[in-house]
Amino acid sequence: MTKLEDGSEKGLKGHFQEDFSHRTRVGLAPPAGEIDRTAPYKRIATEEAWTFPDLVKAQTDYLGSGDAPEDDSLKMAGMFAQMPSLQGMLQDLGDLRISHMDELGIDRQLLLLTAPGVQVVRPGDGTALARQANDIAAEACRNHPDRFSACAAFDPRDVAGSVKEIERAMGELKLNGAVLNSHFQGHYLDELDYWPILEALEAMDAALYIHPTAPFNAPHYEDRGFFGALAGFPHDVWVHTMGLVLSGAFDRFPRLRLVIGHMGECLPLHLYRFDWMQGNADGRPHLRGGNQPRLEHPVSHYFKHNIWITTSGVGWEPAIKFCQQVMGEDRVLYAMDFPYQQSSDEVAAYDRMDMDAAVKKKLMEDNARAVFRITD
Ligand code: CA
Repeated sequence: MTKLEDGSEKGLKGHFQEDFSHRTRVGLAPPAGEIDRTAPYKRIATEEAWTFPDLVKAQTDYLGSGDAPEDDSLKMAGMFAQMPSLQGMLQDLGDLRISHMDELGIDRQLLLLTAPGVQVVRPGDGTALARQANDIAAEACRNHPDRFSACAAFDPRDVAGSVKEIERAMGELKLNGAVLNSHFQGHYLDELDYWPILEALEAMDAALYIHPTAPFNAPHYEDRGFFGALAGFPHDVWVHTMGLVLSGAFDRFPRLRLVIGHMGECLPLHLYRFDWMQGNADGRPHLRGGNQPRLEHPVSHYFKHNIWITTSGVGWEPAIKFCQQVMGEDRVLYAMDFPYQQSSDEVAAYDRMDMDAAVKKKLMEDNARAVFRITD
């Protein structure tokens, strides 16, 4: 964090308001609108955040101990911990959350343990917290089977523990996939040490949702005030996703399924250039020569066979239609991003979108059921 002349700190704190629900309408944000209460689809929101007190405590204790590495992701946890209204919404898996869902017309939330999750706590503590998280999420799903589904948390720094926990969560707990809040102290799942986790995800038929977090060792983001959704978040998931694609992970695990949010973190817009540059770079030193594998397919292939995207935070018709067109109408899923971005006007904007009725139902409901194996 950068110390300013007046002694204040420029950095993570101050980029988020405590109250996430009230915003001034700016630019392309949707105008006021009424939610269609008789819409011919259920709204399944697929990137909905939650957390629990023991995890917040583990994050803040480690941050305060002085033992932790310089990690903006962990600092972000410390910042969120100081927002009581936000914590109230994140930590409730009952009446408060359901009342928000009812108000916003959301039939079902897919619960994702919020960034930065268990992968920033003291090494060795993450897997036990992941188990606790998954037990809590599974209980919420049992208590409200018609309102909640959930992805399993895991701490990738503990590879064997992650494999075991993914197996337990998908088997015994019957959760709906897995979630990782992108990098873990600058490491990514494309590194070979972590491939047993990819193998377990494929074997357990668990879609992996890679959700953003603040980039690692990134003062160049922090100093400019855009470590979050304005730059750092999408860039980090971009690295993670392209790392997986270009490492050959989907050739090694062809049934591995990856989900990324925020309109695919801008990646679909670049598929044409990815394919072009892949042909240009393959086999050349310093581009994709060296130890990089040659892929079995063009980069765009993996976006049509292994990758799905959600619309979290991008209720914008042209972007959604573009992604449906280039990736396929089965590969774009609705998400709200509760509680960070909640707006009844945005829900109404989806209802108004000029889209074939069957395609709209895929977007809002059917694709989520298919990807996350939601049967009830
Ligand atoms: Ca989110």
